[in-house]
Amino acid sequence: MSCIFCRIVAGEIPAEIVARGDGYVAFLDVTPLADGHVLVVPVAHVATIEDLTPAHADTLFQAVRRLAGPTRAAVGAAGSTIGINNGAATGQTIPHVHVHIVPRWEHDGAGSVHTIFRAGPRRPVAAVGNAIRAQLGS
Ligand code: 5GP
Ligand code: ZN
Repeated sequence: MSCIFCRIVAGEIPAEIVARGDGYVAFLDVTPLADGHVLVVPVAHVATIEDLTPAHADTLFQAVRRLAGPTRAAVGAAGSTIGINNGAATGQTIPHVHVHIVPRWEHDGAGSVHTIFRAGPRRPVAAVGNAIRAQLGS
């Protein structure tokens, strides 16, 4: 088993585990972006959100919902940025789905999700909406 998160789930390598449930494990990031930076992973080894089964997705996001408040409170944060690098092109370094919960404070120097992206030309919103609806078959 070469996946580092599978090895953490299996207890083969140590991690600061904060919660574990049927189908998920939550542990502290080894290189935290802020105090209380938690990673929530499904037990199943799948690379992207699209690869999750509906049941595994439910389990994962229920865990995120349950952990967000206590994680924030534990470090006295004012909020949290919750995000997923979904695919190698986005900067995902470990191909096992993981949700980052990063506690945030007013004026902590970090930006919003919007700060990841650069301004630039975009396709018309209505055309993109049509394309997505076509993919969805709706
Ligand atoms: P990504 O860039 O793939 O979204 O995030 C991967 C995260 O996993 C990084 O924030 C990184 O610090 C964390 N990480 C990498 N290796 C380990 C490890 O062995 N243990 C823990 N707890 N976190 C890790
Ligand atoms: Zn894995």
